[in-house]
Amino acid sequence: MYNVVIIGSGCAGLTAAIYAARANLKPLVLDGHEPGGQLSLTTHVENFPGFPDGILGPELIENMRKQAQKFGAEFKAGAVTGVDLSKRPFKITAAKENYETKALIVAAGASARLLGLKGEKELIGHGVSTCATCDGYFFRGKPIAVVGGGDSAMEEASFLSRYASKVHLIHRRNEFRASKIMIDRAKTNDKIEFVTPFVVEEILAPKGLVEGVQLRNPQTGETREIPLDGVFVAVGHDPNTTMFKGKLEMDSNGYLVAKHGSLTSVPGVFVAGDVQDHRYRQAVTAAGSGCMAAIDAEKFLEEHKH
Ligand code: NDP
Repeated sequence: MYNVVIIGSGCAGLTAAIYAARANLKPLVLDGHEPGGQLSLTTHVENFPGFPDGILGPELIENMRKQAQKFGAEFKAGAVTGVDLSKRPFKITAAKENYETKALIVAAGASARLLGLKGEKELIGHGVSTCATCDGYFFRGKPIAVVGGGDSAMEEASFLSRYASKVHLIHRRNEFRASKIMIDRAKTNDKIEFVTPFVVEEILAPKGLVEGVQLRNPQTGETREIPLDGVFVAVGHDPNTTMFKGKLEMDSNGYLVAKHGSLTSVPGVFVAGDVQDHRYRQAVTAAGSGCMAAIDAEKFLEEHKH
């Protein structure tokens, strides 16, 4: 029987683990299918406070993991396949093992959707990005593309126009999912050029760094090549919440609903990080919410001691 099980070992889960371990709760962290979360897929992180020269995402995550282990957090590999939150202690199944816990912190994260192109995942941090706030600064004075037609794509294109010499906004249809105000803002921006309807067929990176994109017009078959240095994929995120359907309150996009910090619809279950946040999605905000969840779990355990 554990005091606290933490689902997810990204920035939020590891920060929760550090706090819970330092509170002597001996937490168990279940790694999930993407150990280290989204930070483990990035290269340089320049906006995490405390690192004036930046730090590599995987190194930052490894440091957090060591810090949690140092205080007694236990780690187990394997994705969670089942949860029973109907009564306490909660029951969790991961990699065919069953665990019981008095409190649960869900920090399962969200996965940025990719286009599914060959080599795309390997180019993350080498010209491909899923986070404008994180990586825009690296593309000062360079031409880039944003792919997508929703509010994220519009927002990222506008944001990136501060840095990039030119932003090609590539979308597969002529109609947009984005709100009119966001489209208008992007359309009146001199640096943003709309390239529709075009699908990205290939990300060109013969030397391992993005040099351009190969596009195809699905209506006419016309192909086009655009030389550029960066491709920001903004085609949405999927919160990793399938296993909580019907068990925890979630919004229409599947994000878990957090109240008063990290509280969920089930007492004793707390949430942290991108699994409950589609607005900020930053390492530092995920870490902050991981800290909140651990403190809330600690208080809950104290109150339910007997
Ligand atoms: P959306 O699901 O709204 O949009 C995703 C876009 O990506 C769509 O245009 C879709 O095209 C396109 N797309 C999806 N898959 C592919 C693919 N494989 N290849 C090419 N294109 C693809 O996601 P967002 O992240 O934009 O927004 C999510 C939610 O967050 C929305 O509710 C949005 O309003 C909200 N949001 C609000 C903001 C704000 O108000 N400031 C800022 C950002 C997000 P298609 O349309 O053809 O399906």
